[in-house]
Amino acid sequence: PNMSRARWVVGNWKMNGSIAANEALLAAVRELPRIGANVGVCAPYVYLPQAVQALDKSAVVVGAQDLSAHAASGAFTGEVSGAMLAEVGVRQVIVGHSERRQYHGETDEIVAAKALAALGAGLVPIVCVGETLVERDADQAFEVVNRQLGAVMAALGERINEVLVAYEPVWAIGTGRTASPEQAQEVHASIRAKLGSAGAVVPVLYGGSVKASNASSIFAMSDVDGGLIGGASLVAGDFAAIVAAL
Ligand code: PGA
Repeated sequence: PNMSRARWVVGNWKMNGSIAANEALLAAVRELPRIGANVGVCAPYVYLPQAVQALDKSAVVVGAQDLSAHAASGAFTGEVSGAMLAEVGVRQVIVGHSERRQYHGETDEIVAAKALAALGAGLVPIVCVGETLVERDADQAFEVVNRQLGAVMAALGERINEVLVAYEPVWAIGTGRTASPEQAQEVHASIRAKLGSAGAVVPVLYGGSVKASNASSIFAMSDVDGGLIGGASLVAGDFAAIVAAL
C-alpha cells in the first residue's frame, strides 16, 4: 500500500454470530496489536451495542453492514437509520455490498442514496463495488465498477473524499477464489483514477476470499490500502494475521 493514505482492515461478519461467540471474538479483536493499520468490525444490527461496549476505549471502530436510504424517521418497517446507528456508537457502515445488490435489488441509485444518508448521519460509508463473473468474462469489469462508483460520486460531490471504497469482485466473495494481486491492482488503479483528486486520500480496500495466506501479496500492491474481510474475520487468529499483514 501507499503509506500516505489511511490503511484499513475491516471485518464483515455478515449474518453470523451469537452473543457468546461475539464476546470471545471481540475480546480478541480488542487486543490486536496494531502497526499503522486501522481496524473495523461490521456486526449484525442487533449485536452493535454489544460490539460498541466490548470495544469501548479501544482503537477498533464498530461498523454496520447496511443502513436505510431514508434520513428521517418514519414508516419504514424493518429499516434502521444512520442516526440510530450513530446514536449507539457506530462510526462506519458498508453500503452496496454485492449481497445487498443481488438479494435485495439495491440499484446504483439506492446505494448512492445510502452513502449520502451515511455521511448525513456522521458515518463513514464503505462503498462496495465489483463485477460478477459474467461481467468479467465479458470484459466489463472496469465499466461496471466505474458505473457503480460514478453513481456514488454523482450523489456525494466533493464529499466523495470522506468515503472508503471496497473493490469486491463478486466471483471472489466466499468462493475461495481470490483475485490475483495483479487483477486487484489494475482495478484499484482504475478506481483511483476515476476518483480524480479524491483518489489521493480515499482508501481502496480489496475484498473477496482474503485469508491469512494471501493477504500479504494482495496488500503489497501499490493501490491496495487494506481489506474487507468476510469469512476470515470470524476466526480471531485469521483476522489477527490479516491485520498484521497490512
Ligand atoms: P469473504 O467476503 O472474505 O468471505 O470472501 C468478503 C465480503 O463479502 O466482504
